[in-house]
Amino acid sequence: MKYISTRGQSPALSFEEVVLTGLAPDGGLFVPQTLPQFSREEIASWAGLPYNELALKVISPFVDGAIPTADLKGIIDASYSDFRHRAIAPLVQSGHNEWILELFHGPTLAFKDFALQFLGHLLDYILDKRGQKVVIMGATSGDTGSAAIEGCRRCKNIDIFILHPHGRVSDVQRRQMTTVMSDNIHNIAVEGNFDDCQNMVKASFGDQSFLPDGRQLVAVNSINWARIMAQIVYYFWAALSVGGPHRPVSFAVPTGNFGDIFAGYLARGMGLPVDQLVIGTNANDILHRCISSNDHSKKPIEHSLSPSMDIMASSNFERLLFDLYGKDGAAIDSLMASLGAGSVSQLDPAALAQARKVFSSYRLDDAETLQVISDEYESSDYLLDPHSAIGLQAGRQCRRSPTTPMICLATAHPAKFPAAVMQAGYPESPPLPHHMADLFEREERFHVEANDLSKVQAFMAANITV
Ligand SMILES: *Cc1c(COP(=O)(O)O)cnc(C)c1O
Repeated sequence: MKYISTRGQSPALSFEEVVLTGLAPDGGLFVPQTLPQFSREEIASWAGLPYNELALKVISPFVDGAIPTADLKGIIDASYSDFRHRAIAPLVQSGHNEWILELFHGPTLAFKDFALQFLGHLLDYILDKRGQKVVIMGATSGDTGSAAIEGCRRCKNIDIFILHPHGRVSDVQRRQMTTVMSDNIHNIAVEGNFDDCQNMVKASFGDQSFLPDGRQLVAVNSINWARIMAQIVYYFWAALSVGGPHRPVSFAVPTGNFGDIFAGYLARGMGLPVDQLVIGTNANDILHRCISSNDHSKKPIEHSLSPSMDIMASSNFERLLFDLYGKDGAAIDSLMASLGAGSVSQLDPAALAQARKVFSSYRLDDAETLQVISDEYESSDYLLDPHSAIGLQAGRQCRRSPTTPMICLATAHPAKFPAAVMQAGYPESPPLPHHMADLFEREERFHVEANDLSKVQAFMAANITV
């Protein structure tokens, strides 16, 4: 299996190479050259498999022999061993033919653990084999940083440096990063905002000469192919749990960078009968505007109660566009240039029509999000976090058929967003799960640094430990 760039100008990569790479050199994103295909019979034969065994079936064709099956099984088992639910991804019925897929039972209580636990173990395995060590650098305003840190805390071949804006992430989110006491974990609190952090990461990837010889940077943001791949599994898992593949199912997904829902699109492309894929957005609604009225213009970021979906443009959307434009790298290259420059804000109508066969979308502002949290708690005693509330409501609003199961992805535990949940009328801060109950008593460790690229890089170079 080879991986090719959406912009058609970079050489194809092997599985190992694509895991160690972020963006393609031509600025595109890597996608598999062909999608593995499963027949209905084969998918049906997986009914009842435990999550990890299903993951092995779904992931194996992408790895395509690059890792021996027994080792891949070991990586998968290690990745999901810290989840706090025996089912890994339990389904809870929330209405007639309507289900909530709880993806928040991992170590940091957000769905990003599914991909980043796996990526940490996968990277360490590949690096061991190559006798190589790398540096992960990332910027976070919340969930990604803690999930990446948890994913790498036991990696022998990786130093991880996560930049967050000093004083501007929530206490829970900061503590989930800064209380992990491994020598290879480095938190840098930058005296600036999230964009400053992100710009430093971009600049560092562009010129890595500050690193010691033989070290390179690896990206863990959602453009990394392995993250998308790991997320495909739970679409199969959920469908099999509610009667698939013998009947089609639909999914509703709270969406930011389009990584999560794109994994659902791939599951459909691999043979899983999927009727609708519903995109839920907050006020940062570029995807909703694009799907509903062909308006892909960028607007300034609005800070919402669902901060993990506060985006100006969705990086993984390019992977879908590549498919919709007939895998024409040159067309995507010029489309992305025009969308980026703002000279074009519409998609080709035929491509959009194609997308609309599968995708629909709904936008919730903060007021509606709070209303959904409050209504759901009142009617069913079920407490949603603000991101999950957006997914649930989008699924309800866009649903075409009452007989097709609608599976709404719950991407974070409500205890991660106590302020929003209390604003919705919940009387107290929702309790953290017991493995995290002492989070506020744990020792914190982070380095405060000026908003200055050379100082951040000097700190990194001096603190590489593995
Ligand atoms: C990252 C995140 C999302 C958005 O996922 P994308 O793959 O970026 O679309 C939604 N909810 C939560 C809680 C997240 O952390």
